[in-house]
Amino acid sequence: MQCLLCNRQLRFELTIRDLLLPTKIVKPLICDDCQQSFTPLTGQTTCPGCSRPQEKSVLCLECNKWRNAYPWQLTHHALYRYDDAMKEFIQRYKFAGDYRLRQIFISEFVSAISKSQVDMVVPIPVTEQTMRTRGFNQVEGLISDLPVNRLLKCRDKEKMAQSKKNRRERLASKQPFILTNEAAVRGKRILLVDDIYTTGRTLYHAADLLYQAGAATVISISLAR
Ligand SMILES: [Zn+2]
Ligand SMILES: [Zn+2]
Repeated sequence: MQCLLCNRQLRFELTIRDLLLPTKIVKPLICDDCQQSFTPLTGQTTCPGCSRPQEKSVLCLECNKWRNAYPWQLTHHALYRYDDAMKEFIQRYKFAGDYRLRQIFISEFVSAISKSQVDMVVPIPVTEQTMRTRGFNQVEGLISDLPVNRLLKCRDKEKMAQSKKNRRERLASKQPFILTNEAAVRGKRILLVDDIYTTGRTLYHAADLLYQAGAATVISISLAR
C-alpha cells in the first residue's frame, strides 16, 4: 500500500505484540513523515473557547468578543492546527475533491466525537451548489457513517465561499442557516461538527439557532483550527 498523501510505499509489519494484543490493528494510511507534518493540538495549552494554542488556558481576545456578542459561550475542540500541512490536506480533500483523503482522519475524528457526551451530533451543511460541484459534504466525509442529525440547512442555494472573504467580511456575515426541526433540539446537548474553525463565525451562527430553539448546551468540534 502507498501513502495516500505522498504515494511512498508504506511498510506495515505485524509484530508479535500486535498479534497477541486483543485490540484492533489499524493499518496506517499515510507514512510517518506525512503524519508528523501535522501538528496535533491535543496536549497543548489552548484557549478553552476555541482551541487556539496559547500560553495560558484562558479565553482569548476573540472568544471574549464572542462572549460579549452572545449570552452563551461556545466550547470548541480542534484536533489539529490549521498549518501548512493541514491547509494542503484541506486543499486536496475539500477543494480539489479527493474524497479518498477523508480516510486519513476518520478514526481519530470519530473517536473524539464519540467521547463527547451529547444527545445529537449536527454537522455544518454545505449549499446545494457546493453539493452539486464538490459532490460531497466535506464535514460528513470526515465522520463516515457516524449517526448524525442533519438539522441545519443552508439558507441560500449558493454562497460566497468563506475562504474568499476577508476577516471583517466573514465576521459580519448574516445567518446562513435554517433549523429544519426546532422541537428536536429543545433541552438537548448538541455537538456541532465542522472541518475548520477559522473565525468562529459559522459555528456561532449555527449555535445561535440551536440555542434560540431551546437547546440545553451546544459545543463544537473541528478537525483543524
Ligand atoms: Zn507520505
Ligand atoms: Zn479563543
